[in-house]
Amino acid sequence: MTGKLFVLSGPSGAGKGTLREHALKNIPDLVYSISCTTREPRAGETDGIEYRFITPEKFEAGIKSNAFLEYAYVHGHYYGTLKNDVVNELNQGRNVLLEIDVQGALQVRNKMPDAVLIFIAPPSIEELKKRLTARNTESPESLKLRLSNALKELELQSEYNYVIVNDNLNIASQELRNIFTS
Ligand code: ADP
Ligand code: 5GP
Repeated sequence: MTGKLFVLSGPSGAGKGTLREHALKNIPDLVYSISCTTREPRAGETDGIEYRFITPEKFEAGIKSNAFLEYAYVHGHYYGTLKNDVVNELNQGRNVLLEIDVQGALQVRNKMPDAVLIFIAPPSIEELKKRLTARNTESPESLKLRLSNALKELELQSEYNYVIVNDNLNIASQELRNIFTS
């Protein structure tokens, strides 16, 4: 394989999606692997763009047939990365970006030790709560679950090769670019 695999993780609302979009716009030869999920699409999300939205039955069939490079049950839903997608891109020399949760990131590190793991941390829990609330995509239950999971996720940041604190977006975006170019 000639391409390199990059993994972005961090608590919901830390800014992974925002930083991922910046990276994909600014870094050549970087492709994003679209995950599968069993959660419902949010307003404005399209099947095959943000995610492949599939049923729990289809997801479980994928687990049985070993189709996933990694998968996890996150905030009450399945999420996973299709192995063939990633391997094909890497074999064609492209760098691949995954945006996945901490459980999935540790699975990737075990299977592909050369992967570069990047943790996106919020400047504080208060700011995380503010951002998630302002994003206005979650039900009160989902918001509560995501915030309580954030505390557990933050404990795992020492497992990562790099940690970026997403306080000022431009600075965080530049830090991410520096990691890719180095
Ligand atoms: P994630 O993908 O980690 O769940 P998002 O990228 O959706 O997080 O960001 C959560 C919210 O915070 C979004 O509304 C986004 O516009 C906003 N946001 C992202 N980065 C920053 C930042 N550095 N400062 C302020 N708001 C931010
Ligand atoms: P959201 O529902 O906000 O889009 O994503 C919720 C969480 O699932 C985020 O932490 C996101 O990174 C994670 N996630 C998205 N895709 C995958 C995936 O393919 N595998 C794993 N393990 N987590 C994922």
